[in-house]
Amino acid sequence: TPAVRNYELDRSEITLNNTIGVGQFGDVYIGTYHTKVKCGNGKGDKNDIGNSAIIQVAVKTCKTNDDPEKMERFLEEAYVMQKFDHPHIIRLIGICSESPVWIVMELAEYGELRAYLKSNAEKLRRETLLLYCYQLSTALSYLESKKFVHRDIAARNVLVSSPTCIKLADFGLSRWVSEQSYYHSSTCMLPIKWMAPESINFRRFTIASDVWMFGVCAWEILMLGVKPFQGIKNSDIIAKLENGERLPFPNNCPPRLYSLLSQCWTYEPSKRPNFKRIKETLYEILIEERAAGFD
Ligand code: ATP
Repeated sequence: TPAVRNYELDRSEITLNNTIGVGQFGDVYIGTYHTKVKCGNGKGDKNDIGNSAIIQVAVKTCKTNDDPEKMERFLEEAYVMQKFDHPHIIRLIGICSESPVWIVMELAEYGELRAYLKSNAEKLRRETLLLYCYQLSTALSYLESKKFVHRDIAARNVLVSSPTCIKLADFGLSRWVSEQSYYHSSTCMLPIKWMAPESINFRRFTIASDVWMFGVCAWEILMLGVKPFQGIKNSDIIAKLENGERLPFPNNCPPRLYSLLSQCWTYEPSKRPNFKRIKETLYEILIEERAAGFD
């Protein structure tokens, strides 16, 4: 059995700076992590003088530090994140598991994707939006290969690391695929407008329902951060979907991409494409777009 990396961090090596967001459990901070990099042979030669590296991190805090059950639920996201190693998934750096509990993650310097899309709407090229959709599909294809269901794929859960690199975050709702491939949710705060019909009707969450959600998230990206089904009540959504209604064609969207999104929104889950195919198709669409750009 491979050694499991110890994710416990020395709290004295982390400094919290300003808050950058509010999570379900508490504030999220930008922090600095001073790592003592060990060099040399450990026998006291001159190279053993620790070099230190300072990196910027995001630190999630938990405001209730006296409720062990809540602390455990808060840390669940970190346990999930530590299993993944992908360029388009936010990496866990470590945890401080004693009160006050902290989850230390890779910082996405440009923050939330929706805000980024809105404030850069003018200068974002179609090719960049396609690149984001493609990058997200590679992360989801990776999760699919690990039999992992995210359950909350939406632009609000995607962060921007650089103008050409987005990363999937927020594994708070995610679950391993259970034997029956579904999970009964207890929460009533479900993201109905992103959800597949079987998730709305039967609380059924599978890799195929993640595919549906990916379609909605890609639509948000192409729409530069517009949320789906604006002005429609959550309680009216399922009737519309069952009536065959779908999100409209985004301006400027390659027809081939809208056709792919429409396939993601097939009512019958087993008829939707898988992420491996979605990733391959998006790659082709991206290459076509780049070729067209050089005309
Ligand atoms: P919710 O369930 O309401 O989405 P949450 O508890 O899962 O909240 P997050 O959404 O992950 O918390 O974090 C809250 C906010 O903090 C994010 O919307 C984002 O603005 C910021 N944030 C979280 N993680 C990072 C990160 N790694 N890099 C940069 N910003 C981050």
